[in-house]
Amino acid sequence: MNLADLVRYWGKNRPEQQAIVFGDTSQTWAEVDAITDSLARGLAARGVRKGDRVGVMMLNRPELAHIILATLKLGAISVPLNFRLIGKELAPMLADSAPRVVVVENELASLLEVAAAQTEFEIFAIGGSDHRAYETLIDPGEAPDVHVEASDPAFICYTSGTTGVQKGALITHRSALAPGIAQVLNFGISGRDRVMCSAPLVYTGSVLSIFAQLVVLPGATMVLLREFDPAIALDTFEREQITATTTVPVIWERMTQLPDFGRRKLAAFTFAGTGGAPISLDLLDFYNSRGVPMVQCYGLTEASGMASTLVYGDARTRPGFAGLALAGTQLRIGDIDGGFAGPNEVGEILVRGEHVMREYWNKPEATADAFVDGWLRTGDLGLQDEGGFLKVVDRRKDLLISGGLNVYPAEIENALHGIDGLVDLAVIGVKDDRWGEVPMVVFHSQRPAEEIVGDITAVSAASLAKFKRPVHAVALDEPLPRTFSGKLAKASLRERFQVPPA
Ligand code: AMP
Ligand code: MG
Repeated sequence: MNLADLVRYWGKNRPEQQAIVFGDTSQTWAEVDAITDSLARGLAARGVRKGDRVGVMMLNRPELAHIILATLKLGAISVPLNFRLIGKELAPMLADSAPRVVVVENELASLLEVAAAQTEFEIFAIGGSDHRAYETLIDPGEAPDVHVEASDPAFICYTSGTTGVQKGALITHRSALAPGIAQVLNFGISGRDRVMCSAPLVYTGSVLSIFAQLVVLPGATMVLLREFDPAIALDTFEREQITATTTVPVIWERMTQLPDFGRRKLAAFTFAGTGGAPISLDLLDFYNSRGVPMVQCYGLTEASGMASTLVYGDARTRPGFAGLALAGTQLRIGDIDGGFAGPNEVGEILVRGEHVMREYWNKPEATADAFVDGWLRTGDLGLQDEGGFLKVVDRRKDLLISGGLNVYPAEIENALHGIDGLVDLAVIGVKDDRWGEVPMVVFHSQRPAEEIVGDITAVSAASLAKFKRPVHAVALDEPLPRTFSGKLAKASLRERFQVPPA
């Protein structure tokens, strides 16, 4: 099975069903099948062949989905590009993936200028007149007959790393679909589901975890929002009777702050996923009490976005856990000697299965580092209990060692989270003559910094062992830096505070 054949399949078997809803417009599966055929012809006429790359950079709109599917029908590789990056950051990604064609919205085309000076590719733009028009790619008729196999590459997804070289995870059709098959089996996701996508579709979490796995695989309906806005998202839940979505905790959280949440008549969810970062039990309880039992997901780009899920009932008895391996996935904890850790022992989370990337595109050394005996090293530290339930403890890079003892910043952050007036906080390690490293809190608050520091000291003393208690605290006037997907950008904090402030 592959994504291109699925589009043809739903086009024939569910011709009248809505495939994509966007504002007041919608397209059926037959229409999506036809338009992606026409685009595939247009791309082929521009020389795009099996294995070639096609970049795409747009805010959410149906054409973005069309270009991706047309690319896949040619057996070519889709490269979603993040429009929140700046030109200098995009250039190495384009040099690395070397696409033949990049399709953009005209307003974003200037982001390609740096790349275009270094790498040759043809730009097609929606709107404007500076580039060839997107419409010229539409050549009505059947798509060229290309044989695509499950093992053929479908996507190059660049990891969201904030520092260092961007690495492109090569995801095959089989990998892209594997987590979806597990979810269809486990949660009963089907063509009747109405799936909301509110985050940019060019993010891995959207293009794989929503579009490929929840929409194209089961032949469901995708309700696509141009941009995320909590009020619009909640309206859409109600008006479109959304039954499935998956997104990051910050987005779920922001919707709870809307005053009229309780009056909304939401549909029963088949799958309400949350992932990418830990979520609090409070938030899970809030949604459950309003009829939305959430499923926590743990995953990473290199594993097509998903590796484990935890249903609400299990989250109540195992707070802080991230679940059981998906069907077809194996999870283990690696110890420092290259073996496997025992139950409840912390080590690096290892994943194996069909959903794991084949390689980092063009990066044999990084690929070799990423795997050990066929297992993908996630770079996350975690443990598994006797039942095989996974707990994500922290990122390996975030771990600090103080006086020879492992200190997990996430544990300290959790302990300090509830302090009144504390808007945002992160714990990082800073150099220390005596202990090697010690924890430091960086925070942003609404109350005076001295008061917050007093609370941090009190809460730490009451709930943390001495070696885990923050030794330094720094208040920032601005919110803490975050990655595009809403994660704390700790690498940039570490760079900024290599030594403790005087
Ligand atoms: P990315 O590949 O950029 O999507 O980021 C994947 C990373 O997000 C993982 O390696 C984890 O560090 C983190 N992550 C994903 N899901 C969870 C979760 N449920 N709990 C904690 N961390 C998570
Ligand atoms: Mg990563």
